[in-house]
Amino acid sequence: METLETDLLVLGAGVAGVYGALAAEARGARVLLLSKDPLPSGSTPWAQGGVAFPLDEADLEAHLQDTLRAGRGLVDPMVARSILEEAPRHLERLLALGLPFHPEPTREGGHSRPRVRHLGGDRSGLLLLKGLLARLRSPILEGYQAVSLLLSGKRVAGAWVLSLKGPLLVRAGAVLLATGGLGRLFPVTTNPKGATGDGMALAWRAGATLRDLEFVQFHPTALPDGALVSEACRGEGAILLNAQGERFMPRYDPQAELAPRDVVARAVHWEREKTGGVYLDLRPIPNLGERFPTVVAQARALGLDPLRAPLPVAPAAHYAMGGVRTDAFGHTGIPGLFAAGEVASTGFHGANRLASNSLLEGLVVGWRAALRALEDLAFPPSATPLPALAAPPEAVASLREEAGEALGVVRRKEALLAFLRRAEAVPLEEVEKASRDRLEAGSLLLLMRLLARAALAREESRGAHFREDFPLEDRPRHSLFQGWRLGFLPVGVE
Ligand SMILES: Cc1cc2nc3c(=O)[nH]c(=O)nc-3n(C[C@H](O)[C@H](O)[C@H](O)COP(=O)(O)OP(=O)(O)OC[C@H]3O[C@@H](n4cnc5c(N)ncnc54)[C@H](O)[C@@H]3O)c2cc1C
Repeated sequence: METLETDLLVLGAGVAGVYGALAAEARGARVLLLSKDPLPSGSTPWAQGGVAFPLDEADLEAHLQDTLRAGRGLVDPMVARSILEEAPRHLERLLALGLPFHPEPTREGGHSRPRVRHLGGDRSGLLLLKGLLARLRSPILEGYQAVSLLLSGKRVAGAWVLSLKGPLLVRAGAVLLATGGLGRLFPVTTNPKGATGDGMALAWRAGATLRDLEFVQFHPTALPDGALVSEACRGEGAILLNAQGERFMPRYDPQAELAPRDVVARAVHWEREKTGGVYLDLRPIPNLGERFPTVVAQARALGLDPLRAPLPVAPAAHYAMGGVRTDAFGHTGIPGLFAAGEVASTGFHGANRLASNSLLEGLVVGWRAALRALEDLAFPPSATPLPALAAPPEAVASLREEAGEALGVVRRKEALLAFLRRAEAVPLEEVEKASRDRLEAGSLLLLMRLLARAALAREESRGAHFREDFPLEDRPRHSLFQGWRLGFLPVGVE
């Protein structure tokens, strides 16, 4: 089998992977990036709103408080403070690299002040990622899917990779997981097709701990095909109406359309159930076409015209707060394995992510994790690939349809139990060889089972996790799954 060797292997070429790779190559390290899909790949290029940066020293405290409030008791305040303190340095670096951040910050839901910096109207993620990619010198292999990690004893020493050209082994001094989220576990999602939670499954398989998987943020305003209508639209005056044409958000929260995302998502869910539909009226936004060109184009592609009529919207799976447990520097606790971006659970988002804090976390922790990884390079003489996880794609596709109901915005015990029973009846196998579809189905099935277990075990409502049968908050705690072998799935508390 073809074998390559590098210092740092970065799995994923979204904001966390590419920015991390820039940090490592600036230190003279050999860096290799893999992207499962053609560039620009991942969720990053789809980000519309922008990046939340504290405005100044005084705003740091307010940004921290907003982050803590959204995270409902599960944000690690030390981690959050350290990320926010470092944020201005990264903004300066990005501006120095020539990235075209708009000087006027926007306000988004849950933020007490306008502090979200966008690029190119609503093309923030695309311009950010393209700008970073243009400055990267290290090679990126496109269409290369990491299917399992190489282990030497308990140390991660590279990855086993699949491509159309055949299998490949990459031996690495350290691995940075930056594979993004798991939105594709749900039937309606804003995430791109590669968001199948591969990195979480890879890390779990190598013995890492997965934390708080039940916290999935549902974006309240997606178009029928999952295309996002950015929260910034509501920040700039768009209002939500039910099928009777009534503005309902003030009945649910005094912040109305700018209430935290979970509040708006549930309100949209209930109003859709009660009245048959929910619509977002974008017509109050001045210069709509110029300010939100992507939204207008996506709506028109569906035959809708936001300049003339409100758009039909519904909640869609959007962001995974949970993931591979790390500290604020991307350490997973497994030697040689680091994680950053949406795949990781650093403690910054808690039970609910504050809008536009994720690109910020990807930047800060991506940078830090890559530098930490360089301090911990090792090249053991031999390493063996772990078997990969595979499942039948058709069975997982039909489970995905059910996940929308059972694991969606509003959850309850019977539906979760029934879903878990069905998910555990679908075979999840360790394999030495499989196609992309079977491997992605394997990641999804593992995560469906873990997410359902975590959602069942959390008998309370907190942040993005809402249980109809336990509508109140209990005491704050994390849920944990420590991986290793198939069938060993303890649920823990922290
Ligand atoms: C529509 C939308 C709008 C958003 N808007 C905002 C916003 O305004 N502000 C904000 O802060 N956040 C926003 N978010 C969230 C944010 O975009 C993501 O959380 C962030 O971009 C994730 O970055 P990442 O680097 O972790 O992963 P991603 O950008 O998702 O990149 C993942 C990378 O991993 C690769 N990959 C995956 N699996 C494998 C594998 N097995 N082998 C090899 N490569 C693999 C993919 O090809 C890709 O290159 C939005 C998300 C969406 C979907």
